[in-house]
Amino acid sequence: MTSTLTLPATGESLASNKLTAVTVAMGDGIGPEIMTATLRVLKAAGAELDIEEIKIGESVYKQGFASGIEPDSWKSLRRTSVFLKAPITTPQGGGYKSLNVTIRKTLGLFANVRPVEAYFPFVKTLHPGMDVVIVRENEEDLYAGIEHRQTDEVYQCLKLITRPGTEKIIRFAFEYARQHGRKKVTCFTKDNIMKLTDGLFHKIFDEVSAEYPEIAKEHMIVDIGAARLANNPERFDVIVTLNLYGDILSDVAAEIAGSVGLAGSSNIGDKIAMFEAIHGSAPDIAGKDIANPSGLIQGAVLMLVHMGQGEVASRLKNALIRTIEDGVHTADIYDAAVSQQLVGTAAFADAVIARLGQEPKQLKVAKFAASERAPMIHVKRRAAAVKEIVGVDVFVHWAGDDAAELASQLKAAEEGPLKLVMITNRGVKVWPNGFPETFCTDHWRCRFQADGATVKHRDVAELLLRLSGTKLDVIKTENLCTFDGEAGYSLGQGQ
Ligand code: NAD
Repeated sequence: MTSTLTLPATGESLASNKLTAVTVAMGDGIGPEIMTATLRVLKAAGAELDIEEIKIGESVYKQGFASGIEPDSWKSLRRTSVFLKAPITTPQGGGYKSLNVTIRKTLGLFANVRPVEAYFPFVKTLHPGMDVVIVRENEEDLYAGIEHRQTDEVYQCLKLITRPGTEKIIRFAFEYARQHGRKKVTCFTKDNIMKLTDGLFHKIFDEVSAEYPEIAKEHMIVDIGAARLANNPERFDVIVTLNLYGDILSDVAAEIAGSVGLAGSSNIGDKIAMFEAIHGSAPDIAGKDIANPSGLIQGAVLMLVHMGQGEVASRLKNALIRTIEDGVHTADIYDAAVSQQLVGTAAFADAVIARLGQEPKQLKVAKFAASERAPMIHVKRRAAAVKEIVGVDVFVHWAGDDAAELASQLKAAEEGPLKLVMITNRGVKVWPNGFPETFCTDHWRCRFQADGATVKHRDVAELLLRLSGTKLDVIKTENLCTFDGEAGYSLGQGQ
């Protein structure tokens, strides 16, 4: 169900054709409190919005919609193409998919942009100069949510990284840096371990960065990168990274800047954009009027900029920062040494409204351009490579512990070009020449390769047919392919 609620600018009656349609969801937990506060400050700042409210989250899940959104609500999102969303609660337990992930992926919101800045000395932080923007890939990686239990002991989650998805987010990061006068883009991956997936991200980063000679670039392995971000965030400017690393690191960044309650984010797609706070629904403090609405207000500021209401965005952001500067603080950032007044959610919104038209005295004054739409990114698909099958990995559920015994059962099924060359367990080679110390589960990857001969799908199918005549429980297969002669698979550890 959608309902329309119009928010005219303060002190003037606007013709409805000046209003821009926005879909709003009040969310769960602290969502309704911080969204009410945010809508009030938007209205007072003069935002020209025509609001359609949709219901999402817990109540919708409980009505039996496993995705947490009613089918009709998609129509509103498509019609308005701008979504201001309060956090929602994903019910625990199986059967419920994360609505946030569903919305981002269904609507193609490929870029998650999370600016995090310190408001020192008004908000306590060890990193006064921190001003980082994390550009997180928003649709791929482990968030494809493709998971399977394969054996008694082993569960799997597929990490999917695509060339177009990666190129899009990396180009976006550089275009964003260019548009916002940022000086450096740092890429975080774990390509020392995941050479194909994270390796692709790194490789495309190197390719694309060459087109932006005025912007400094660096790559870091995500573990040392995360450590440096936590210890010395001032050295970073824009960070571009994969979905999971970006999810974790943007919370770390917001927390070390002062509070997760302070940062907002935008989720940008080609046609639709969504704006939110970075934190969750905080059920532990819901209904108490103590939540900090700043994160959602920051999300709303990003939305106004996206909608071409840069002047209103500047007015609102400056009033927000001035409120924080004046020491009017919610409990999450209250510190008796610097704070002047402890306020609740509603009173904080009142304080922001009272400061509309004022600017920060010490912190940076916001001055958004009238229109500052996120960069549009178009990626050209590459011509298909010459793909050849050179082997197959057959994954087997087997409860034994002697890899040589498994090998002899597999070899009995050999015929045609595919020969058993290796068995690994959790990625480590255990046959031939395994180590007795290697711990083995009931999940074995058995690699068959053809020595120079061409392999057809039919050879793979025939191998599987012969294996089906043994007692072995085949879980799945992965073809080993070359693309323009380059191997499209990793070696086993120790191979
Ligand atoms: P959370 O972000 O809701 O809370 C973490 C901690 O930060 C809590 O102690 C909370 O009180 C505090 N906090 C969060 N926002 C605050 C604010 N505005 N002001 C003051 N304190 C604040 O994370 P969680 O507890 O792990 O998750 C709670 C629920 O939120 C879960 O159901 C989760 O799935 C959901 N979630 C939703 C979103 C979203 O809708 N975008 C994002 C993350 C988590």
